[in-house]
Amino acid sequence: MHQFLGIVVVFSIGLLWQAASAFADDTKATDLYARIKKSIDEVPAIDTHDHLRAFSEIPEQVDTPRGRGMTLYSLWSGSYYRWTNPLTPWPASGGFDPWWQSARHDFDDARATSFYRYLLPAFRDLYGIGFDAISDEQAKQLSEQVFDHYQDDQWLIEVITKHANIELMFIDPYWARLSFVRDYQFSVPVLNVTTLMQASHPARFESALDSPYEYARKHELRTDTFEDFLAVIDAIFTEAGSSGCICLKSTQAYQRTLSYQEVPAERAKELYGRPPGEISDNEQQEFEDFMFWHVCRLSAKFDLPFQVHTGQARVQGSNPLLLVDVIAANPETKFILFHGGFPWVGETGVIAMRHKNVWIDSVWLPTLSYTMAKRAYQEWLEIIPSDRIMWGADTVNAEGIYAATEFTRQCLAEALAEKVERGELREEHAIRIGRQVMRDNALKLFPKLKKFLWR
Ligand SMILES: [Zn+2]
Repeated sequence: MHQFLGIVVVFSIGLLWQAASAFADDTKATDLYARIKKSIDEVPAIDTHDHLRAFSEIPEQVDTPRGRGMTLYSLWSGSYYRWTNPLTPWPASGGFDPWWQSARHDFDDARATSFYRYLLPAFRDLYGIGFDAISDEQAKQLSEQVFDHYQDDQWLIEVITKHANIELMFIDPYWARLSFVRDYQFSVPVLNVTTLMQASHPARFESALDSPYEYARKHELRTDTFEDFLAVIDAIFTEAGSSGCICLKSTQAYQRTLSYQEVPAERAKELYGRPPGEISDNEQQEFEDFMFWHVCRLSAKFDLPFQVHTGQARVQGSNPLLLVDVIAANPETKFILFHGGFPWVGETGVIAMRHKNVWIDSVWLPTLSYTMAKRAYQEWLEIIPSDRIMWGADTVNAEGIYAATEFTRQCLAEALAEKVERGELREEHAIRIGRQVMRDNALKLFPKLKKFLWR
C-alpha cells in the first residue's frame, strides 16, 4: 500500500486543515457568540407556553425505596425523548439499579436527536453531569439528587426563576381547562378552547373540568338551545378575562385537520345537541368548523389573542397554510402560529409576512429540531419585522423547563451570531432582537401582562 502513502499524507493534511478550520468556524466557539448568548441569558424571559402543574401534581413520580418521588427516570419519562425513543419502564421493585441496567442502553440510537439533546443542558448546568458519557455511579447519584430536590417546591421555583431566568410563564392547563387557577407567582393563565370547540353534546366530555355543560350546571346557566350554549361560551370567556387569562389556545391539530370551513350558525344549530351516535364525523367536523370561526370572533371581541397549534401533530391536516382563509377573514383576531408550524417553517413565515394579524411562536421548535429552529429564526428575521416572534419551553418540570429554555437561548444566540458574522446584522441589533424574542414581543402583543410582572 506504500505507493499510496504520498496521496494519503496529502489527503491527511487536507483533512487536518479542514478539521482545524471547521473548529474555527464553529460560531459557538467565538467571543461574538459568547457576548450575544450572555445578553440573551440576562433577559428575564417571558415563556409563552408551558404545562407546569401545581407542585404536588408534577407528573411521572414513581415509587422508590425512599417513597414516592422524582427520579432520573421521571425526567426522561416526562420529556419529549420518549416520543421517538425507547425508555425502560420503572420497575415494580422501585430499585434504580435494575432500571439503569437496561435503561443505560436505551439512548444508543437517540444521541443526535433534539428530543434527547435538549435535555442535556439540565444535567450539565444543574447537576454538573455530561449525560452523553455518564457512568453508572453518576447516574445513580443523579437520580438520588433529583429525588432530594423534589421534597418541596423550592428547587422547582429556583430553577425556573433563577437558573432559567423566567419572569412569567403562560400555563396551558389541558388537565383542567376551565379552572383558571394560578399556582405560582410567575403563572399566567391561558384559556384552552380545544374541547369547547368539540362541544356539540355533553357526552363528548370525559372530564367534567373541561365541559362547558358542567360549567353551565355550576353557574346555573341553561344549555337547552344553541343560543343558550353560545351564551355559556360567552360566560366562560367573560370569566376567563376577569380571571386574568391572557390568550386562547387550541390543540385541535392533534385531533383533526386545520382546514376550517365557514359554516353558518343555522347549520351549527341543527347539529347542536346530537349525541355522538347520532352525528356523523363530517357533521361533527362542521360543528367544530363553526365553533373555530366563532372562537376567532370571540378572540377579537374579548381581546384574547389566539395561540393555535400548527405543524407536528397528526401531520396530515397540520400544515398552517390551511388556516390562511380564516386568518384573512378575521383581521381583528390576533393569531399566534405555534411551533413555527414545524416542519413548515417557511410556510409559517410567509403567512406572517402576508398577514399583519399573525405572530409566530417558536415554542417547542428547537426541541423538535435545533437545526431547523436556527434556520427558521434566520429566515423569519429576513421576511417579517423582529417584533413578531416569541418563544416557549413547553414542558412539565424544573429540569425540562430549564433545558428547553437554555436550548432555545443557545439556538437563538447562534442564529443571530451567524448573521452578525456574515455581515447581515450589527451586533447591537442582534442583541436587541434577542431581547425582543425572549421577552419584549410578548409584552407588546399582550399589554395586560404588565400587571403580572413581579421583579
Ligand atoms: Zn404544549
